[in-house]
Amino acid sequence: MRKLLLRILLTGILVGLFQLITIFSESDAAAPSETIRVAIVKNASAVTVSGDGVIATRENGSAVAVNAPVTVRSGRDGVILDGTSYRRLTFAGASAIQINGKPYRGVAELSMSDKGIVVVNELLLEEYLVGLINCEISSAWPIEAVKAQAVIARTYALHRRDARKSSLYHLESSVMDQVYEGCEIEDSRAHRAVSETAGEVLVYNGSIIQAFYHSNCGGKTEAAENVWGARLPYMMGVDCLYCLTNPTTAWEQKVSLQEMEDKLRAAGHRVAGVSDIRPGVRNSRGRLKNIVISSSRGETVLGGDQFRKVIGYGVIKSTNFTVTVKNGEAQFAGFGNGHGVGLCQWGSKQRALDGFLYTEILSYYYPGTELKKLLEDR
Ligand SMILES: [Zn+2]
Repeated sequence: MRKLLLRILLTGILVGLFQLITIFSESDAAAPSETIRVAIVKNASAVTVSGDGVIATRENGSAVAVNAPVTVRSGRDGVILDGTSYRRLTFAGASAIQINGKPYRGVAELSMSDKGIVVVNELLLEEYLVGLINCEISSAWPIEAVKAQAVIARTYALHRRDARKSSLYHLESSVMDQVYEGCEIEDSRAHRAVSETAGEVLVYNGSIIQAFYHSNCGGKTEAAENVWGARLPYMMGVDCLYCLTNPTTAWEQKVSLQEMEDKLRAAGHRVAGVSDIRPGVRNSRGRLKNIVISSSRGETVLGGDQFRKVIGYGVIKSTNFTVTVKNGEAQFAGFGNGHGVGLCQWGSKQRALDGFLYTEILSYYYPGTELKKLLEDR
């Protein structure tokens, strides 16, 4: 037991030293000590933790003996490790900490929510960004587009952190916020894009903006107001012909009326015998405000985004589509992928290929904003 405690203590000192070295080695970057909290697992009944030199502490800061790999299970009042219940367990490793086999930098904090275990990964913001790049785009894209992605992801993360200061975590690791799968897919180009833009964020009138972005706008970016109702002067929508060079910009999809009816009913809509679907009103940016569905119960009108959610965001890739019904099947033909607000990732890629700098790409998609470097004492 004493040996084990000594090992934990020594590992703790090593981890501390390692973190100090990491911080000092990045001291040339702006604001290297900014951290971010990301929910990487939610609603789990069990979570495995592994890695080199894993140590654990409980909610009061005292050490908990662990011999990784360990499995933490959900309990009624807390997370259960080796038969003991804890309100919170925080794991750190000598290098990356592995959660369900995936490596993450920083620490992993396990606690209970109503529906199971939630794992929050707390790590340095700049390290989070390096891991994120290849989840959102590919670091093999032209470097100016990768740098633009680094800036907007940093901006987005800091805006969310301010908005969710008192929450358990700041960001989801899915498309709900920004896709993040840990540090396994870090590479030198992602690193370069993050360090060459270290600490840089977009501001409007001195405040960090809500830097929404999406995969492909299909020709025109969307006004934030049309999607979320809030008018943001730097996100009124711009023309973007650049993403049209991507062959996947135009999409087609077939959905049977029966499948559509099943999905509508599952989402609580009172339809029966769906016989037709037609586009409703379009907004100023060319996207559908609503969709009209006919069934024996009359007409049902769904908002464009609501329709995508019901049928599947991956099936109906955008709200810029036409639809015709033939042989019991709705045939969709559309442009773009995603909500369309803010930077268009495929457009940004093309602009970078055309020789534009990341600063020019950013000011194009977020007009009126300025690039600002965060200071150490922020
Ligand atoms: Zn575009």
